Amino acid sequence: MKFSELGLSQDILDAIVTHGYVEATPIQENTIPLTLAGKDVIGQAQTGTGKTAAFGLPILEHIDLDNKNIQALIVSPTRELAIQTADELKKLGHDKHVDVQVVFGGADIRRQIQNLKSRPQILVGTPGRLLDHINRKTVKIDQVKTLVLDEADEMLNMGFLDDIEAIINNTPADRQTLLFSATMPPAIKRIGVKFMTNPEHIQIEAKELTTDLVDQYFVRMRENEKFDTMTRIFDVQAPKLAIVFGRTKRRVEELSRGLEARGYHAAGLHGDLTQQMRSRVLAQFKSHEINILVATDVAARGLDVKDVSHVYNFDIPQDPESYVHRIGRTGRAGAKGVSVTLVAPNEMDYLRGVEELTKKRMTPLQPATLQEARIGKIKNAADEVSKLVNTVDVDEIQSEVEKLTNQYSAEQLAAALLSSVADLAKQNTPVEITRERPLPRRRGNGGSSSRRNGNGGSRGGSERRGGYRGNRDRRSNGGPRREGGGANGERRFGDYKRRDGRSTERRTGGAPRQHREFTVREKD
Ligand code: ADP
Ligand code: MG
Repeated sequence: MKFSELGLSQDILDAIVTHGYVEATPIQENTIPLTLAGKDVIGQAQTGTGKTAAFGLPILEHIDLDNKNIQALIVSPTRELAIQTADELKKLGHDKHVDVQVVFGGADIRRQIQNLKSRPQILVGTPGRLLDHINRKTVKIDQVKTLVLDEADEMLNMGFLDDIEAIINNTPADRQTLLFSATMPPAIKRIGVKFMTNPEHIQIEAKELTTDLVDQYFVRMRENEKFDTMTRIFDVQAPKLAIVFGRTKRRVEELSRGLEARGYHAAGLHGDLTQQMRSRVLAQFKSHEINILVATDVAARGLDVKDVSHVYNFDIPQDPESYVHRIGRTGRAGAKGVSVTLVAPNEMDYLRGVEELTKKRMTPLQPATLQEARIGKIKNAADEVSKLVNTVDVDEIQSEVEKLTNQYSAEQLAAALLSSVADLAKQNTPVEITRERPLPRRRGNGGSSSRRNGNGGSRGGSERRGGYRGNRDRRSNGGPRREGGGANGERRFGDYKRRDGRSTERRTGGAPRQHREFTVREKD
């Protein structure tokens, strides 16, 4: 469907054209008219299908430029996602001259306060820092017309819930509330609905929750063989741009160091790094200076990096929903991708749990042998040598070149060059990855939501359990700390009265069931 049929005004339509979007995606087509009409909306659609613009465009449409209050507030789980969302809104709101600002923890608050003096109409932020600003009265959200929880299930999960409630309490009761995510476990949705008024639930019913564009594989192996197996797969698959997921921050640290030690261009991204470090790592990844980003689930939520070709799950996630979000980092906006999940024999139930949720079988992949890996490495090195041949300046090194060519055959020189570029010796660098406690036995088909509520057992150090995430934003700004611990979540969920039946379910995309109808016009 054309954007022009959705009821948007000309300056917004112009910005869409400038942005290179030709057709609205199904989630945009189905939610934009409702959001424009002022309804509360839960928007659920596959990762990478343009949910940001789905809530962003009607918000921009409604902005009153003469009103210098914050009219729309978008809450994001991470700093990177907040920045990404603000950037997209700035671009789409450029022609209308909308002022969009972003606040997040770990960055200089005085600078943010300075930026806020421009009186933005739209504010994007992470929960902890937003609350900090609200408490300092440097952000006033009592005139907010639209509140968005992006990655809503993550935001309403136990780690963030207190902050979200506190933020919502500062907004007017008659605001419009929008929740967007690819996944929405029923228990989490019930919490969300509590904050909404007669919401419409738009679910773009994809045939599968993960896209057809991603070839999904799994490799079954012993825990202590995972690292070697993964690097061999790298050598054979030669990923152009890959994200490796580890279950904990420690894992991410160890994996990124281990990969570096073996000669890969890798770096880690997780919540304990400074903001400067995180920004640097993400910039390096986007510019392909490093081609392997190792990340935790939360750190990579919602990230839209162009051309991510491969996703590797070093650890299978505990929640099947996390799998959906991980895989969603590739196969974005019509591109193709590959995913490989490493799974220990005792975790096979989790794999089946993921398959139940995604309604898609993963293909077993034979781990590569050392020999295959070496051949792969040499082949990759050959590609690199070809690139080098085209860029090297011979004049400068003429005399040494002549010495070598007189002394050795072309074959000998090429072989030496290849083995140096391939750096085969590094393949054997010993790397020790600390053993993580195995996932608790998965109990039956209890449904993902119940596991999220803590029934899956709490695991020390896991990023998915409560405590840590809520604290992360505050750690840097000295705010109060919340006690951690998995059991917490269960209690907190218990505090809510369940109120069902207030939301109207609407499923779309029935007949042809073709989802990802994307038309992207290449910009030069
Ligand atoms: P999601 O939040 O659903 O995971 P994003 O909002 O991050 O997806 O969008 C994914 C990518 O698709 C972004 O690069 C975005 O610019 C692009 N995109 C969004 N809407 C469209 C559209 N209508 N046509 C083409 N590309 C789009
Ligand atoms: Mg998104």
